[in-house]
Amino acid sequence: MADCIFCKIAAHEAPATIVHEDEDVVAFEDLGHRAPLHVLVIPRRHVASLAEADAATAGTVAAAAARVAREAGYAERGYRVVTNVGPDAGQSVPHLHFHVLAGRPLGWPPG
Ligand code: AMP
Repeated sequence: MADCIFCKIAAHEAPATIVHEDEDVVAFEDLGHRAPLHVLVIPRRHVASLAEADAATAGTVAAAAARVAREAGYAERGYRVVTNVGPDAGQSVPHLHFHVLAGRPLGWPPG
């Protein structure tokens, strides 16, 4: 999608610190860093949110999120994977992304 910042990151047309990429997904550090590990995992193909993702896309992004956490060393200690959908959840970028957060105790419920 032409004016989507995450599409541009996936196409290497906008800067990002990429920690993993393959033909289906790209994972990169969140600029806002809310935890010692804060990575966003996105599908390369533009999908606005989880509400519009098919099962294969959702599953591929979820599996990649777990892989990012595991490879960063948080498999035992734990981590959180969350995706915001729509305005009440505070979704600010309309391209599906799973946040992977780890490295500190994560409060529950989230805000
Ligand atoms: P959300 O509010 O759930 O839609 O999350 C969007 C996230 O994208 C926020 O945590 C932002 O910090 C992050 N973000 C926005 N633009 C960029 C960017 N260019 N590079 C990395 N992270 C970004």
